[in-house]
Amino acid sequence: MSKSSNDQKVLFGAGIRRQVLNEVKSLGCSRALILSTPHQSSSALDIASLLNGASAGVFSRATMHTPVSVTDEAVKHANEVNADCVVAIGGGSTTGLGKAIAYRTDLPQIVIPTTYAGSEATPILGQTQDGVKKTLTDKKVLPEVILYDPELVTGLPRDMTVSSALNAMAHAAEALYAKDRNAHSTKLAQEGLAAFIHALPRVLEDPEDLSAREETLRGAWACGAVLGQVGMALHHKLCHTLGGTFDLPHAETHAIILPHAIHFNARTVADLLSPIADLLGGKSPGLELWKFSKKLGAPLALRDLGLRLEDLDHATELATKNPYWNPRELTPAGIRSLLEDAWHGNAPD
Ligand code: NAD
Repeated sequence: MSKSSNDQKVLFGAGIRRQVLNEVKSLGCSRALILSTPHQSSSALDIASLLNGASAGVFSRATMHTPVSVTDEAVKHANEVNADCVVAIGGGSTTGLGKAIAYRTDLPQIVIPTTYAGSEATPILGQTQDGVKKTLTDKKVLPEVILYDPELVTGLPRDMTVSSALNAMAHAAEALYAKDRNAHSTKLAQEGLAAFIHALPRVLEDPEDLSAREETLRGAWACGAVLGQVGMALHHKLCHTLGGTFDLPHAETHAIILPHAIHFNARTVADLLSPIADLLGGKSPGLELWKFSKKLGAPLALRDLGLRLEDLDHATELATKNPYWNPRELTPAGIRSLLEDAWHGNAPD
C-alpha cells in the first residue's frame, strides 16, 4: 500500500524491503551505497544481497547525532565507490547520515526505517560538530523513497519500542497546538497519535504482530511528517536542552518529559489537546499520557537517566534563558516544578 507526500514515495507492507532493487532502478540508479550503524551491519548486508549487482557496498559507521566527521568519511567513501544513491537501513541516526550525505552530494535516498523516530519523513537535518548540534531544514535532505517494512521492527526491543513510540508521539502532541498549525497538520497529528495509542499495547502483547507493527509504522510516518510541517515548542526545547547539556538519551528523555510538557501547556490550550485525552479515554491529556506511559513500562523519571537533582537549577536556567514561542508563558518557577515532577517520576500535577 502506498501514500504520497510532497515529493516522497512512501510504501508500507510486510516484506516491502525486498522491493529495494526496483526502487533503486526507479530512481535511475545502479550503484547504491548502503548505510547502517555498526550494530545493524548484518541488516545492511541483507539489503546488499537484495540489491545484487546494484550495490556499491556498505558503510556501517552511522553514529548518534550525525557527527560531521563521520559524514566526511562517508562522502569520501561514496565518491570512491561511485555511488549514485544511498539506502539507509536503521533508526534516526542512520537516516541522519543519509540526509547529511544528500545535503552535500544531492544523491537520492531510500530509507528503510527500523525505529519510530520519523526522521525519514522530514526535511530536517541535525548534525554535530565540536560537540554542538545544529539543525537545518532543506528540501534536498527529504528522502525520495521510504520502505516501511513491519518485519524489520518485530525485533525492536520492548524498551526501545516504547521510548521510540513516545518520542514520535511527542511530535504529534506538540503539533496540536503549534503556532503555524493548519487543518491538515492537525489531522495528521491526530492520525499519528491514534495509530500508536491503538497499536502499541497490541505490539507489546505480541511483538511479532505484523498488522499492529505496520500500524505503528504508519504512526511513525504521520508523526514524522507533521514534525516536518509545523514548529515545536516547550517539549522539544526542554528535551534538546536536557539531551545536549546533560547528555541524556534522546528517545527516553522525550518519553519522560512528554506527559509533563503537555500537562503544563494544557492549562492554556486544553481544547487543542483534548484529542489526546479523548483517544486515551480521560479528561487530562498530560495525566492520561503519564498513565499510558506507566502501563507500557516506559521510563518515568529523569533521575533514572542519571540526571542529578542539583542539575535542575541549571536545566531551568537554560530552558528559560532564550525565549521561544510556547502556548503558555514560561516562568522559571513553572519549569522548575515541571522538571522536579519529571525527575522524581511523579504524575504531572
Ligand atoms: P538510533 O538510530 O540512534 O538507534 C539507536 C540504536 O538502536 C542504534 O544502535 C541502532 O542501530 C539500534 N537499532 C535501530 N533499530 C533497531 C532494531 N529494529 N532492533 C534493534 N536495534 C535497533 O535511534 P533513533 O531513536 O531511531 O534516532 C535518534 C536520532 O534521530 C537522534 O539523533 C534524533 O535527533 C534523530 N531524529 C531526527 C529527526 C529529524 O527530522 N531530523 C527526527 C527524529 C529523530
